Amino acid sequence: MREKFNLHTHSVYCDGRDTPEEMVKAAIEKGFSAIGFSGHKNSFDPEVSMSHESARVYRRKIGELKEKYKKSIRVLLGVEQDIFEPEPATGYEYIIGSVHYIKHNGKYLSIDQSRENFDLILKEIGDTDTLIKNYFELVGDTLKYTPADIIGHFDIIAKFNEGGVYFDEEDPGYIKAAVSAMEKICHIPFEVNTGAISRGYKKAPYPSLTLLKKLRDMGGRVVYSSDCHAKEDLECAYDDAIEYIRAAGFERFLSLDEVKQWK
Ligand SMILES: [Zn+2]
Ligand SMILES: [Zn+2]
Repeated sequence: MREKFNLHTHSVYCDGRDTPEEMVKAAIEKGFSAIGFSGHKNSFDPEVSMSHESARVYRRKIGELKEKYKKSIRVLLGVEQDIFEPEPATGYEYIIGSVHYIKHNGKYLSIDQSRENFDLILKEIGDTDTLIKNYFELVGDTLKYTPADIIGHFDIIAKFNEGGVYFDEEDPGYIKAAVSAMEKICHIPFEVNTGAISRGYKKAPYPSLTLLKKLRDMGGRVVYSSDCHAKEDLECAYDDAIEYIRAAGFERFLSLDEVKQWK
């Protein structure tokens, strides 16, 4: 039987619905060997992110749960560090490095918040080609901004693009921008992230199958996650994600201990 775990989860400490303890209990019920919390850290956007103070409480709380449930499950303390977060990600067992914003005229524009917001960004930036170029340049530079153990949702720029409504994900220019970014960070494990499936935006995980095949060709490694914001979604579309990883040509995905040597 395969090991079930999820390192990309959000709780009430950021924009998730459930308390960490409710999620730990749900993970135990589902037979998970581990649950990792990855609270958002993009404190310039307080509606969705932990603040400096709440991150401190979060770290303490996850530490308590780690101890309380240690006989039943491994609880890991992580963070989803947005590249623009000014406070370095210290005091965590692992870091998911993610891009959620484009910086434009001194403002942080969220690309994954809502379709309406995405439309506004396109209006401000001018065209999809420029937006795509800007986005993948930032993704490629992730490690200049923050250390990362996992690359979060590599092509979240395509969150609202189901059916190719904004751009063609098979277009050579799009692939080229994505591959240039990938080449700079492909030594870090990428997540195969089913988060947009659980929220009904997409039918397939991030990254797209074409990009996942490129990652395989570069010798990249993958770990699955559901980027869940509610306990019901802890293993959302996991079976599909595993099929998908195989369809991209990967013989295997990383076990928990291969993601990182946990101390
Ligand atoms: Zn994210
Ligand atoms: Zn997330």
